Amino acid sequence: MANEFVSVDPYMRGRMNDVRSYVAPYALGEVIAGGAVGRVVESAADALPVGAVVLHQHGWSDVVQADASTFRAVPEIPGVPLSVRLHILGMTGLTAYVGLTAIAGLKECDTVFVSGAAGAVGTAVGQIAKLLGAGRVIGSAGTAEKVALLTEKYGYDAAFDYKDGPVRAQLAAAAPEGVDVFFDNVGGDHLEAALDVMNDGGRLALCGAIAGYNTTERVPGPDNLANVITRGLTLTGFTIGNHLHLSPEFGERMAGWFAEGRVAYDETIVDGIENTVDAFLDMMRGANTGKMLVRIARP
Ligand code: NDP
Repeated sequence: MANEFVSVDPYMRGRMNDVRSYVAPYALGEVIAGGAVGRVVESAADALPVGAVVLHQHGWSDVVQADASTFRAVPEIPGVPLSVRLHILGMTGLTAYVGLTAIAGLKECDTVFVSGAAGAVGTAVGQIAKLLGAGRVIGSAGTAEKVALLTEKYGYDAAFDYKDGPVRAQLAAAAPEGVDVFFDNVGGDHLEAALDVMNDGGRLALCGAIAGYNTTERVPGPDNLANVITRGLTLTGFTIGNHLHLSPEFGERMAGWFAEGRVAYDETIVDGIENTVDAFLDMMRGANTGKMLVRIARP
């Protein structure tokens, strides 16, 4: 098959460390495995005819030859790029949905705070929270443009640039009545700030901790962890691979919202397989709004 879009994702950074984690480290000299979407160009499998759109985990390459069982055919949506299967209708959308529902137990009228709000997962979290009846939704991101987009395009009620000043002070100002659900993509100072403002019985879905992915020293823990005890908070970490049974439920609900035009998305696209490493590094530095993708030229 020939890839049309290849995904670059923060979890790949973790696989570049030779440490125990929930997926094995990448081996030197091997193709970087990860999500990609493309079309079948040659096939010996009846279920995957030439032209079929397929999702797979073969990663950073322009063409792939592999067993048919490693590809999953997905329907093409007229007028919509195949790339949505790698974010809002795919893994990052599912992560947002699972984190809010199965992990945080989102309830109507909950106040929600989302860190890393302008990325692929974060843009989906804010919108899904609203669609599921959340009250105030607050987001943080790393540029003024991203912050503006959160309130103007993604339905956030308030947003701030975490580079403008201490997260603690900015979050306290944005959440005068506290936070019930924290969806954390960042960790570090964001987690500490959230622990300060969590309401009693609040739930924290720990999805990512990108602030620490590139650090060489150990990051000190939050200084206010005792709030977990005194306020009866629940912190739950999750990896999406353990919640794939929710994929059909998500697929059905998101397909409906998407068809009704109730979800928006952004993509930051880099052209050319030869630029994949730079796209990955730029994503880690925050150059993306929404999903960072690499587009492969058609053969
Ligand atoms: P994003 O599209 O959000 O891209 C990464 C973003 O992280 C950048 O755009 C940048 O935005 C932000 N960032 C980088 N460094 C920092 C920092 N030091 N402090 C705050 N923000 C930073 O990626 P994804 O949406 O794919 O992933 C978001 C998070 O979700 C990651 O932590 C990832 O590991 C996690 N994840 C977890 C999954 C799971 O199963 N648990 C599944 C998928 C993702 P900015 O300009 O705002 O700084």
